[in-house]
Amino acid sequence: MADPGHPPRECDVVVVGAGILGLASARELALRHDGIRIAVLEREGSIAAHQTGRTSGVIHAGIYYRPGSLKARLCVAGSRELYEYCEERGIHAERSGKLIVATDETELDPLAELERRGHENEVPGLRRIETAEIREIEPHATGVAALHSPATGVVDFAEVAASFGRDLAASGGSVATGSPVGALEQAGNAISVRHACGATRARAVVTCAGAWSDRLAVACGAPAEPRIVPFRGAYLRLRPERRDLVRANIYPVPDPDLPFLGMHLTRGIDGEVLLGPSALMVGARDAYRLTRVRPRDLAETLSWPGSWKLAARFRRTAWREARNAASRRSFVEDLRRFVPELQVSDVLPGPAGIRAQALARDGSLVDDFVVHRTERAVHVRNAPSPAATSSLALARLIADEAEPFL
Ligand SMILES: Cc1cc2nc3c(=O)[nH]c(=O)nc-3n(C[C@H](O)[C@H](O)[C@H](O)COP(=O)(O)OP(=O)(O)OC[C@H]3O[C@@H](n4cnc5c(N)ncnc54)[C@H](O)[C@@H]3O)c2cc1C
Repeated sequence: MADPGHPPRECDVVVVGAGILGLASARELALRHDGIRIAVLEREGSIAAHQTGRTSGVIHAGIYYRPGSLKARLCVAGSRELYEYCEERGIHAERSGKLIVATDETELDPLAELERRGHENEVPGLRRIETAEIREIEPHATGVAALHSPATGVVDFAEVAASFGRDLAASGGSVATGSPVGALEQAGNAISVRHACGATRARAVVTCAGAWSDRLAVACGAPAEPRIVPFRGAYLRLRPERRDLVRANIYPVPDPDLPFLGMHLTRGIDGEVLLGPSALMVGARDAYRLTRVRPRDLAETLSWPGSWKLAARFRRTAWREARNAASRRSFVEDLRRFVPELQVSDVLPGPAGIRAQALARDGSLVDDFVVHRTERAVHVRNAPSPAATSSLALARLIADEAEPFL
């Protein structure tokens, strides 16, 4: 399905980025327009090489998000559609369920707010439970109350992305890997996409470039705001013989001022139990190794006023995240609040991902999905979690934005 190099010289739509959103958007356009010529250009040697291939694998049900927001609407619709899609295609997805656990009285009000949002967002089956029932659902978890979401589940998003790519190929579209896009230039009534193998002329471009999504957008005349700031999410894994500590998904009550859901314990579709992810601002948009620093990425983060305002506002959180990055003991201690039996000796090193999180100039982390339009181009500017869950529904919105150019 993915063809190394060789993008076409001419087509109707170029999609930049073969993560789950680029592939879902290309697929959506191909299904809408018979005979349309679509090329997805991906700079890496394979699809799903960044965020899409490095998630917790959780199909979110839509509990957390502000009612009426894109995240709320598209997550609830997208998760329903994703389960249906997986069933049709024989992709293993499981409604394994999830607990959001309040560990003390101070978390009861935020838990009640999550419950209110969940009901307003029409999350199926969501209900509040007390201590005894927490133990029935997750025998090793503890708390004063919890929300139980039976519609939350797990899947391998890289497998879903590959399936979107096959659907695209079946409609005549193509994916060219090893094809970094360097610039987009207006060329009369078309747009010229410059890449490693030359240029492709198209009627429209959709950029779904994840951690690099601000660069092409700004070069096309989109607003400089928001800037992408990379947040590294590191995981630990449970030793196979300790996986019985977690049946499905156990989450904390998150900090309401941050768009991250907090460090959780998740049994993936492959049976592996991941702990995390942490959320540390880092010096490269691909800092899968903590020590990787890229001067351009670092300069862009440091020159953005929002980075300094964010750091000042969340000094204590930043300190805790740095501690968790440096110390496995501290990482485990955070999770022991709701799974007290967990020991440092139960864990092994795990994978890491980089969240492409948009940051506003005033230091606020942009909460909702953001899509901008420039001349003949649509740019996805903020698509963090739950964008993988929402991909089928978000792709419809992206395709709607591209329609006027087709
Ligand atoms: C640690 C972590 C855990 C997460 N857990 C979940 C979860 O459990 N559930 C959930 O719903 N979501 C989760 N997410 C969020 C989810 O991964 C993202 O929302 C989603 O993958 C975004 O997809 P994307 O296609 O926009 O980005 P990506 O998958 O990052 O794809 C962008 C692609 O664009 C390519 N690209 C960039 N610039 C160029 C260029 N100039 N030319 C060519 N190609 C280019 C990149 O190489 C990349 O392949 C998680 C994210 C992280 C980091």
